[in-house]
Amino acid sequence: MEAKQLQALKQNNALLCQFIVRLSAFYEGFSDKLDDELRTLRGHLSGTPNFSLAAVSIDKLNKALQHQEVTLRKYSVETLSSLEDAMKQLQKIVFEDEELKTLTTNELIKLNQPHNDIFGIYKLFAKAIALHRIALNKKIVGLKHSEKEITPDPGTSSSTQNENPHYRSILVELNQLIASYAQKKPNDKQLMDIKQRLEQGMDEDQLLKSCVVILRMIVQDAMSEASFTGKVIQSLHNSLGQINNEVGESIKGSQSQFEQRKAGNEQLKSHIDSIEEAVSVSDSLETLKEQTQFCVQNLVNTLSEQQNNDEQGQEALMALLSSMQEKINTLQQQTSVYKKKLAEQVMQSRTDSLTRLPNRQAYNEKLDEAFAQYKESGKPLAVAVVDIDHFKSVNDRFGHAAGDKTLQVVSKFLKQHLKRPEFIARWGGEEFVMLFPDTTIEMVEDKLNALRNKLASMPFKFKQEKVKITASFGATCFNTNDSTESVFERADEYLYQAKRDGRNRVVTDLSTAQ
Ligand code: GH3
Ligand code: MG
Ligand code: MG
Repeated sequence: MEAKQLQALKQNNALLCQFIVRLSAFYEGFSDKLDDELRTLRGHLSGTPNFSLAAVSIDKLNKALQHQEVTLRKYSVETLSSLEDAMKQLQKIVFEDEELKTLTTNELIKLNQPHNDIFGIYKLFAKAIALHRIALNKKIVGLKHSEKEITPDPGTSSSTQNENPHYRSILVELNQLIASYAQKKPNDKQLMDIKQRLEQGMDEDQLLKSCVVILRMIVQDAMSEASFTGKVIQSLHNSLGQINNEVGESIKGSQSQFEQRKAGNEQLKSHIDSIEEAVSVSDSLETLKEQTQFCVQNLVNTLSEQQNNDEQGQEALMALLSSMQEKINTLQQQTSVYKKKLAEQVMQSRTDSLTRLPNRQAYNEKLDEAFAQYKESGKPLAVAVVDIDHFKSVNDRFGHAAGDKTLQVVSKFLKQHLKRPEFIARWGGEEFVMLFPDTTIEMVEDKLNALRNKLASMPFKFKQEKVKITASFGATCFNTNDSTESVFERADEYLYQAKRDGRNRVVTDLSTAQ
């Protein structure tokens, strides 16, 4: 071999050795067994290469690589199948959310296509995680994600909550019921206990048990209300019974009076008859005078008896009337107390006990009214949903009582800045809902932005620390095809968009139209 050819061969060899060394270094960490062998091969090829030892090593590597390839394919198939399972599960949970439903369906289609390179699987993984994260942000999967991030709570069984999309709404509902009962019964131990456990987090079993306890309280309460109503009705019944008896007595009295009067009249008639007879049969003026005097005396007696009877009857009637008057007065007083209590109950049942704002039931009634007016008048009607930003961190950092106080202050602030017929209610938790009759979306957007800015600049101080409280808003106007539900859903979607876009902002039909 010529020296030149030998030189070229040496150079190619060196190049090949370098390439093998680099390639093996790139795959380091892929498998322990391969790593060891690749390291040995690199040893044989670096410096002055030992090709015969390298050939042994390459033979071993070939076999190991063949085995590894089979394992890798199997692993990829298994990974894709578990990814598919996870996506199917997510699809079931997010079925009510159009955006997520479409995204998960597209992802499932991609998962079912052939995958030749490993990096493609990594991308699918990343996408699946992103979709789960979106669902978490939308709170569809019911996991207390922020709670997990900030304070991991070993007592909370999240796996069951995860599967039940209604878990969260039941929690909110229960929270509200407890708040309204806690006002009525501030020292009730059972209530305090449930309230405390709710704050710490409950699994489904505990939640169900707590719901039963609260239901029992509601029933007991309803029964004691019913017994109050029963007492009022009983007392009305007694009073009416008494009046009835007295009227009956009075009728009896009048009847006997009537009989007496009739007898008296008969007597009078017979006295007059006697005078007539005396006049016709009398033969002397003296006897006539005597007889007439006697008859007239009888007449006078009978008449004065009658007068006496009449007076007594009148007095009895007057006494009866005044006693009836008294009873009616008492009845009026009783019914007005009852009416007041009923009105208080109606008011109570439509008021949120913590914030004193109208509650969800009041909102629903108001909405039906406003919706009917909107249909009749055609004037614009807007609905806005408000949610305080990062409210959980107020509770976590400064305690639940500070959280409650913040809710009261924000509620008062929001209420003060609306004027009739604008309406605000506490939807639940740290969420509020507003109605703006006869208001265009432009006007609502301006109003909400002003509110938002004002709230953000309001000074809140907890434990000597200044804290900024902000809120996100979603608002929309009724369209001709809208139902009360579809409008709320749209406003709620805008609210979540405001959250996704960074919070402390207003999203309306206008922002989304651009
Ligand atoms: P985001 O900006 O996404 O809305 O975050 P957030 O922390 O406000 O929302 P998240 O839904 O994670 O938490 C809401 C918290 O509000 C959790 C719950 O404990 C708290 N909360 C709900 N109702 C009340 C209440 O009546 N009083 C108090 N103190 N806290 C409440
Ligand atoms: Mg919320
Ligand atoms: Mg919030």
